[in-house]
Amino acid sequence: MKTELIDPFNRKIEYIRVSVTDLCNYRCGYCMPEQGVHPEGNHKEYLSYDELARIIKAFVKLGVAKVRLTGGEPLVRKNLSHLVSEISTYEGLEDIALSTNAHHLEREAQALKTAGMTRCNISIDSLKPERFKNITRGGDLVKVLAGVDKALEVGMTPVKFNMVVMKGTNDDEIEAMVDYGLEKGVEVRFIETMPIGPAGVSMMNQHYPASKILARVKKHVGADLIPSAGKTHDGPARNFIIAGTNTRIGVISAVSEHFCETCNRVRLTARGVLALCLGQEDSVDLRTPLRDGITDEGLEQLIKDAMLKKPEKHFFNENVHNIEFRQMVQLGG
Ligand code: SAM
Ligand code: SF4
Repeated sequence: MKTELIDPFNRKIEYIRVSVTDLCNYRCGYCMPEQGVHPEGNHKEYLSYDELARIIKAFVKLGVAKVRLTGGEPLVRKNLSHLVSEISTYEGLEDIALSTNAHHLEREAQALKTAGMTRCNISIDSLKPERFKNITRGGDLVKVLAGVDKALEVGMTPVKFNMVVMKGTNDDEIEAMVDYGLEKGVEVRFIETMPIGPAGVSMMNQHYPASKILARVKKHVGADLIPSAGKTHDGPARNFIIAGTNTRIGVISAVSEHFCETCNRVRLTARGVLALCLGQEDSVDLRTPLRDGITDEGLEQLIKDAMLKKPEKHFFNENVHNIEFRQMVQLGG
C-alpha cells in the first residue's frame, strides 16, 4: 500500500521506530547518564501495549510498512512478544524489527520470532568482556554473545551488529568486529557517535569518522568494498559488500554526512510523543488525545497533520549544544 504520509519536503514516511520504554539495564556512556534517565519511572506515563498497538495500527493504515521496536532496552519491558503478535496481524505491515543490547535475547528470541518478529539489530561495542563491561557500565558480554547465537538459531533474518566507534575507547576493535561479522555471516554497521542528549554530547571528543573506518576495513579485508546497490533496509546506513564474500558492512555517519534528504521515518517515544526528527525538537503529543478518547479517524488525521511539522534536516554539525534537549534512550536511536 502506498503511504499517505508525505512531509513538506516530499519525503514519504514509511517507517516508524517505536520506543517501548526509556529504561535500560545498561548505561552506555554515549546514551545514558550513570543514574539512568527516570530512576522512579511512573508506569502510567508509559503507553500500554494496547495504546502502542493502536498508534501503530493507525500508521499502518496510513501506509507505513515497517516498524522497529526499540528503547531504552525493549527487552526489559515484559512480554514484548504480546505486542509483536498483535501488530503482526496488521495487513500492510511487512517488517517488524528489533533493536536490542541482546542481554535478554537468548531468553526472548524464540517467542519474538514465533510472534512475528522478522529481524534484529544488536548493539555490541566491544568483544573484550572487561571493556564491554566498562562501556556499558555493567554489561555482560557472555550473555550478549549467547543472545546473538540464539537470534541466528531461531532464524531472525537478517541479524545485524551495531558498533558505536569511539576514538581511544574501542576504535582498535574495528578489525576484530569485521572478523566476528564474517564468522557469523552478519553485517556489521559502524556508527559515528552522535551529539544527542548530554551523554552523546559529552562523547563527541571521541568521534571517529566513517571515512577512516571504511579505510581501515578495506585494508583489513584486503578487498574492495563494493557499494551495495538497490534498496537497503536501513536508510541512513551506507552499505558495502566485501568483494569475494556475501558479507555486507555499513557505516552510519549522521555527523560527517547528512542523510536527511532520504529520511523516511518518525519516532514514537514510550510516553506517546511523536518525534519528527532525531536532531530537532519538533514533536506532537499523541498520548493526551488518545487518553481523551480520540476516534480512529481523528488519530489518523492527527498523524497526517503531524507530518507537516517534519523539519528538513538536523543540525548536528552546526550547533551541537542545541540538541541536548532529548536523550537517545527516549528517541530509540
Ligand atoms: N538498547 C538498544 C540498543 O542498544 O541497541 C536499543 C536502543 S539504543 C538507543 C539504539 C541505538 O542507538 C544503539 O545502536 C546505540 O548504540 C545507538 N546510540 C545511542 N546513543 C548514541 C549516540 N550518542 N551516538 C550514536 N549512536 C547512539
Ligand atoms: Fe541502553 Fe541501548 Fe542506550 Fe546502551 S545504547 S544505554 S543498551 S538504550
